[in-house]
Amino acid sequence: MIERFREWYENRHEYARSYKERTGRKVVGFFCTYSPEEIFYAFDVLPVRILGSHEVQDVTEPHLFGMFCPFCRDVLAQGLKGRYEYLDGISIGQSCLHLRQAYTSWDIHRNPGWSHYLPMPSHVQSKRAVSFLVGEYRLLIERLEELTGRRIDDDDLRRGIDIMNRVRRVMKEIYELRKDDNPPITGEEAMYMTCAQFFTDAREFLPVAEEVKRELTTRKLDRDPGKRIMLVGSENDDVEYIRMIETLGERESVGCTVVIEEHCTTTRYFWDEVELGDRDPLTAIAERYVLRTPCPSKDWPVRTRLDRILRFAKDWRADGAIVLQQKFCDPHEADIPFVRKHLQDNGIPTYFLEFDVTVPAGPFAIRTEAFLETLEAEADLF
Ligand code: SF4
Repeated sequence: MIERFREWYENRHEYARSYKERTGRKVVGFFCTYSPEEIFYAFDVLPVRILGSHEVQDVTEPHLFGMFCPFCRDVLAQGLKGRYEYLDGISIGQSCLHLRQAYTSWDIHRNPGWSHYLPMPSHVQSKRAVSFLVGEYRLLIERLEELTGRRIDDDDLRRGIDIMNRVRRVMKEIYELRKDDNPPITGEEAMYMTCAQFFTDAREFLPVAEEVKRELTTRKLDRDPGKRIMLVGSENDDVEYIRMIETLGERESVGCTVVIEEHCTTTRYFWDEVELGDRDPLTAIAERYVLRTPCPSKDWPVRTRLDRILRFAKDWRADGAIVLQQKFCDPHEADIPFVRKHLQDNGIPTYFLEFDVTVPAGPFAIRTEAFLETLEAEADLF
């Protein structure tokens, strides 16, 4: 059953096209994890995240500065090349300026007929952030009414919240299993799972994830888990890189397993649920997005992510952390010295890896191998 995640990840476009055909529902592409998927589900609109294709690309040069992050370039290339031509709309919840530029350029050159810019506050620590966001959500709802020709009420919003909460919960339960001495799921498989969720209807994803969770409780992987590694940092859905480092142990090298990550394709995206209680659903959704683990572009003036990163490292017993920055990613670049210091001060060795999703992963795996060797050497000495 776990293979299903990889199939969904690799066939994301086929899935979306057939989904539209069999359900007649609209599909909207979103650019960042600050898009409130709960509201899209309340309208029975499928939100799919736009991710890149990890190819060397050559079409974004006229649209994005050379020093914008490769992930944003890869994302924009998808639009310019027409890979998401089935979308009924595009939307972004403001995060960093690089991604916003990719969105704006897509909006200008490949507008599918509906687009919406959601000004998610950068100052999420402001007392006014939640009320501001509720107002913005009301505008988003008006725009979605135009797109779908239907109106929603609080029960629809509660339904949207429930769908997203359940899917987040099952992924967290699967992540708990990665705490085992020999995790029954590799980092590569976990990455396929979290990314597959971006491309599939959560209601179709959920029963599969529940079944995988059941299977994992008795699954034994015939591999040496090696060093337990955490990944922290910029956007990363480079499964090839994870596969390469997790198979190093098969080639007379120090092996490893990625046991936990803190980035926007995994835990930063799904870890926090909407705490609904008997409150107004829009306020509860807004609070979730204001209080969730922030992207570093919003983690100011107080840096709030550090303790959560450390808790992940400790709870999943990481031997070391690879702190990864997409080349030119300013928000993470400013964050990384603090992340590394916090981990190192608390006994977790770190390695800084400048990354580029659009070039082959081999050289990054070689650098990671060197880091794993240093971990092994330290274990030998002490
Ligand atoms: S990797 Fe960095 S620059 Fe790129 S979209 Fe994410 S936060 Fe923005």
